[in-house]
Amino acid sequence: MSEEKYEPVIGLEVHCELKTATKLWCACPNEFGGEPNTHICPICLGLPGTLPVLNRNAVEYAMWIGAALNCEIKPSKFHRKNYFYPDMPKDFQISQYDEPINVQGYLDLPTGIRIRIERAHIEEDTGKSSHLGKSGRIHASYGALVDYNRAGVPLVEIVSAPDIRSSEQAKDYVSELRAVLVATGATDGRMEEGSLRVDANVSVRKGPNAPFGTRCEIKNVNSLRSLVRAIEYEIKRQIEILEDGGRIVQQTRHFNEDTLSTVALRSKEEAQDYRYFPEPDLPPVSPLDTWINKVKQELPPLPSQRRAKVKETFGTAEDSQIITLVEQDLDGLFLDVVSRGADCEIALRRLLNEAASQIEAAKKLDAQDFAELIGMEKSGKLSATQCKAVLANMLEGGGSPMQIAASLGFEGMNSNELEEVITQIINDNPDAFERFKAGDEKVSQFFVGQVMKATKGKANGKAVIEFLEAKKS
Ligand SMILES: [Zn+2]
Repeated sequence: MSEEKYEPVIGLEVHCELKTATKLWCACPNEFGGEPNTHICPICLGLPGTLPVLNRNAVEYAMWIGAALNCEIKPSKFHRKNYFYPDMPKDFQISQYDEPINVQGYLDLPTGIRIRIERAHIEEDTGKSSHLGKSGRIHASYGALVDYNRAGVPLVEIVSAPDIRSSEQAKDYVSELRAVLVATGATDGRMEEGSLRVDANVSVRKGPNAPFGTRCEIKNVNSLRSLVRAIEYEIKRQIEILEDGGRIVQQTRHFNEDTLSTVALRSKEEAQDYRYFPEPDLPPVSPLDTWINKVKQELPPLPSQRRAKVKETFGTAEDSQIITLVEQDLDGLFLDVVSRGADCEIALRRLLNEAASQIEAAKKLDAQDFAELIGMEKSGKLSATQCKAVLANMLEGGGSPMQIAASLGFEGMNSNELEEVITQIINDNPDAFERFKAGDEKVSQFFVGQVMKATKGKANGKAVIEFLEAKKS
């Protein structure tokens, strides 16, 4: 197999549900879950005689997304995309076609690669079908149930140019896009709840200058892991066909999580199959410049800007640490405690290792208390282990680190007490102390362990080593 001579070409379509209070055309609540068919009305069911009324907030969220993705925000129109499917009772989906609200933007990945965005348009979500039967898939099912709670939920579909060249890059793109979308506040970006869904268009070609090959679209991949696997599988499948002298048939395919392979769903539709025509019940949307400018001005800091800020403050932090810190939304707290004099390295370590496992509680930490705690570890008043224990208590209910440390019995021992204990342990273990004196660093951990045992963890590790060093001479 000669995978090296093929270059994958990948474009991604990402659907994100907007966080509006109500649906796109009606006053039904836009909420995930709920008893089936309880968030519905004649409008989102598309019953005859009803008229859609555009949700202003959905338009504004779409504009935020466009601004965050460096798009041109333009006057736009709605079209009907006609097709029959049980989850779409009116037999068409209202979407934007040749005049979408956002065009020609880009997204810069943390690796420095720029992926162009062709468009980011508004459309309505469909209902949800569940297929009855063991497999949960339409094949071999004995019936279907439809829940229309999701019908009419506002979506923005973000279409990238075919600029992505590997499954890893596709993952980077979706992670960064998700972070940007969440930062705008337009969506919660929860892939597991389906509020962010990814379709991947994949083809391969012989080298970077060859014309694009025929592409296949993999539908509704619902995690980053699956996205990487689905793309990897599809690249391999296409290369194998080409190497055998076959040709790729344009198809829509589904990624099967169990077999880790893609299977054909249907031959890929072309735009003309949908018989698009302008939606007669909705006027065009032409946001005024004042509105567009207001959105651009109010746009919160984006992940790339926030990462740059952390890097500026703590230049030697690793990129992966900074990415995680911003992803977990803990960069604000980090910058705050550092500005109060806390040590960058310890603060970052405690945030990423301990606080990140309890994000919600971590975000509520008082910056002054947290800075004080980091100071106690830095000065050696608390050992790292003690610091973690105090932090765990602070995450549970907050409070002053000094008081918590005292209540846990972490008040430092006075030097005389400590020296007595250490002298006793040295006398009990003369051989080990000789090895320590000879420069065997590992033995110091043995002594620290013994002292901790004797003092029930009250002693400070750093202080123990200092005493040992002093006793050498
Ligand atoms: Zn409704």
